[in-house]
Amino acid sequence: MRGWTVRDALDLYNVSAWGAGFLTINDEGNVEVRPRGNGTTGVDLLALVHDLAQRGLRTPLLIRFSDILAARIEGLRNSFETAIREYGYRGAFRGVYPIKVNQQRHVVEEIVDYGAAARIGLEAGSKPELLVALAILDTPGALIVCNGYKDRAYIETALLAQRLGRYPIIVVDRFREVDLIVKVAKDLDIRPHIGMRAKLTTKGAGKWVESTGDRSKFGLTTMEIVDAVERLRAEDMLDCLELLHFHIGSQITAIRAHKDALREATRVFVGLHELGARPKFIDVGGGLGVDYDGSQTNFHSSMNYSVQEYANDVVASIQEACDEKGVAHPDIVTEAGRAMVAHHSMLVFDVLGVHETLPGAPPPPVGDDDHRIIRDLQDVWKSITQKTVLEAYHDALQLKEEATSSFSLGYLDLRERARAERLFWHCCEKILRITRELPNVPEELEPLEKSLADTYYANFSVFQSAPDHWAVKQLFPVMPIHRLKEKPTRRGVFADLTCDSDGKIDKFIDPHDIKDVLELHSPNGHPYYIGVFLIGAYQEILGDLHNLFGDTDAVHVRLDDDGRYTVEHVVEGENVKEVLRYVEYDPAALVEKVRRIIETAVRDGNISLNDSARLRLHYEQGLNEYTYLARDA
Ligand SMILES: *Cc1c(COP(=O)(O)O)cnc(C)c1O
Repeated sequence: MRGWTVRDALDLYNVSAWGAGFLTINDEGNVEVRPRGNGTTGVDLLALVHDLAQRGLRTPLLIRFSDILAARIEGLRNSFETAIREYGYRGAFRGVYPIKVNQQRHVVEEIVDYGAAARIGLEAGSKPELLVALAILDTPGALIVCNGYKDRAYIETALLAQRLGRYPIIVVDRFREVDLIVKVAKDLDIRPHIGMRAKLTTKGAGKWVESTGDRSKFGLTTMEIVDAVERLRAEDMLDCLELLHFHIGSQITAIRAHKDALREATRVFVGLHELGARPKFIDVGGGLGVDYDGSQTNFHSSMNYSVQEYANDVVASIQEACDEKGVAHPDIVTEAGRAMVAHHSMLVFDVLGVHETLPGAPPPPVGDDDHRIIRDLQDVWKSITQKTVLEAYHDALQLKEEATSSFSLGYLDLRERARAERLFWHCCEKILRITRELPNVPEELEPLEKSLADTYYANFSVFQSAPDHWAVKQLFPVMPIHRLKEKPTRRGVFADLTCDSDGKIDKFIDPHDIKDVLELHSPNGHPYYIGVFLIGAYQEILGDLHNLFGDTDAVHVRLDDDGRYTVEHVVEGENVKEVLRYVEYDPAALVEKVRRIIETAVRDGNISLNDSARLRLHYEQGLNEYTYLARDA
């Protein structure tokens, strides 16, 4: 038999498929990040975690790779520019980054920075996001697309930004906004840049399919679009209508859905020209997917197309519709957010302990005077072979039930029942070991893998760091970041620190299916680090404070030209005190209160002076500590 190699680990965790060239495994058996993509300099993730630990950063730890962000922006731009060149399209590519996908200042600043050459702008979906865009975006000519519900102040702010040399486009999301925009623009005497969001009949694909189409919360129906055009014409403002926008939802898994939406939207676009409007931008929204599981399928955590294919379809459909009607090619605005930022950040957590479900040692000997059920179970255990697995499983199940009922009736004592159960698990373990080698696992035995999985206690909170795994059952790639030269002999699931039974990761990516267990290594007395990948989009802001687990430590890592890395923007995670303040506790008052309670206990002789000092110290220090656990030294 051939030994386990790094190659096997790459296959097992399917790294090349979802890693998009940014991740691989090095000869040390550690995950290696290649922030500039395939074939470029790599950073050993384990060494980085050790290095960061020396700088005082703690796990769970969020690591953002600025170069991955740059590479993703560049990739999107290249795909569109390639398509534009190849098709002889006469408009330009104008990306905007939707701030809501990851609002962290350093992330937005880096996108603006890296995107400057491609004139990448920002999309704001709310007033707070507009305020961010106004301050951060200084790229000449870059667009600020203003979406979402708007009040007068939102519109005034956007309009006045024109006076600062910015290019805000106010997108009409609801018909009533037309009047408000007209009125505010007149009051301020500013010619607005107006966009219109079309409510398409075409449905999206993937998780959010039900929120698109006719019932979508946003956008104007065709009737409203026609009315809005007339309204603007009447105000002599039809030339202000510069952009048509649509957005059919996030993580669109099927290229078909993009194509259908494009067909409908481009018809609306040329229709606007036929009505006498002259929009010069078409904004195709977001929805560009991320292949989280690497399966390249129309599965909710995947996508069945590439970025290039998407860009080709966008460019070709707009070109075709425009050429047919002799309409000038508009500049193409994209609002792809997830696809820009998902890859660049990853979470590393440590495993605090393992509950091993399967008995490690062989079953203890059984004697002639042991209970019949116990002797029978032992016989079953001995008899398990490839041929008899199913039969043995049935026998073992039946004996376990017998043990339970005999116990209830008083024929088996507690110790005997425990022995019977232990033997039952030994049988299951042997059956499982044998079925793993079978080409076809009998259907009945499939759940065994899951019920025998070990529980790995993980030092993080799903609700804080990967909330979509809990909320919408999204899959993220999860794998150990080291020991990958070693065959992972155990199968496990992760339980997080929260006291919530949903606080777990027990669904894992698989090229053909969803896995209920992940291949993991046995504990060896050293820290065991697990990476959760592709979490740069939406997770940070949707994360919550369940059980008062706060933000994790976070860093940005940037490559130098000589291939070394620099650690930038160390953002310390929240301490207990900060988290308590969110829920209206005043830490000083808490300290004072506990001090008084301790005083009373000292006075009454219930606690020694020494112990009281110790407790006070723990209390005060505890308030200043990380909300996650520290490994005991
Ligand atoms: C959320 C949102 C986006 C971003 O979508 P992704 O799927 O992340 O690309 C773009 N446009 C609008 C209007 C949105 O609401």
